[in-house]
Amino acid sequence: MIVTNKNNLPEPLVRAFKVLNSKYVGGGNVSVTTLKDSPQIHKLRTIFKDYVTVDAESMLYSVLGQAMHQVLESANERVNEDKDVPDVIEKRFYKKFLGWELSGQVDRLIPQEEKISDWKMTSTWKVMNKKFDDWEKQLNCYAHLARSNGYKVSNLEIVAVLRDYKKNSQSVNYPESPIQVIDIPVWEDKKVEEYITERIKLHKSVITEKKEYVCTNEDRWYTGDKWALIKKGNKKATKIFRTKEEAGEIGKEYKLEFRKGTSLRCENYCEVSNFCKQYKEEKEKDERG
Ligand code: SF4
Repeated sequence: MIVTNKNNLPEPLVRAFKVLNSKYVGGGNVSVTTLKDSPQIHKLRTIFKDYVTVDAESMLYSVLGQAMHQVLESANERVNEDKDVPDVIEKRFYKKFLGWELSGQVDRLIPQEEKISDWKMTSTWKVMNKKFDDWEKQLNCYAHLARSNGYKVSNLEIVAVLRDYKKNSQSVNYPESPIQVIDIPVWEDKKVEEYITERIKLHKSVITEKKEYVCTNEDRWYTGDKWALIKKGNKKATKIFRTKEEAGEIGKEYKLEFRKGTSLRCENYCEVSNFCKQYKEEKEKDERG
């Protein structure tokens, strides 16, 4: 991976980002995080791994997340000295499926509570909107891997650290603390195995059998087209609607403005976008109008 420094960040910071980033080691043929993600990203990352270019600034949150894990890991080693059954910290588990080895690294497994606890640095928006599907898949895969390696797991939780928390926010349902503990539903083992098998089949078909995969709207974080209700003379929208019909009758003092949907991940966050034919074609289509 090539790391650039477009905004001229202080060099020690960039060096720290590079070191922390290089400490991430996956394992097996595929990790749980890759498995639940788009096979097209997996394929492009595999092919272009030496050419993928990431700007240091965009690594900030991922590096802060890793730094948080490291601090917790070292602090908990000391706590474990007083425990009869020590917590299992930052352990990677493996299991073979359809000839591929799946691996997943658990932040903290607490055998006495039969619990896996995973730390996430995330946005307040995600927690307020309860968008936990990806965490549910990830933690249930971890639970399955841990069970397959002899541990009992019947509870799953995320400890979410809200990186953009505003103490004095007046928003309705705003979290009362920047740290939220969220219970995650536990799946039957059969359901997890079916999920893993289906995803491995999909990734194998793209990586090994070279089948075409097109990123879905969900993979691309597509916002969908929107209609903004704006009070005349104002710039900011009073309300956003998914369709014109949803907006209904609007008063004379308002106007409706069309806002074309955008693939947020392709535009801003996908590290393989430079190598992606799908994204290139979609951009060309948009430019043609
Ligand atoms: S740029 Fe978009 S379409 Fe291409 S791999 Fe990334 S997320 Fe998928």
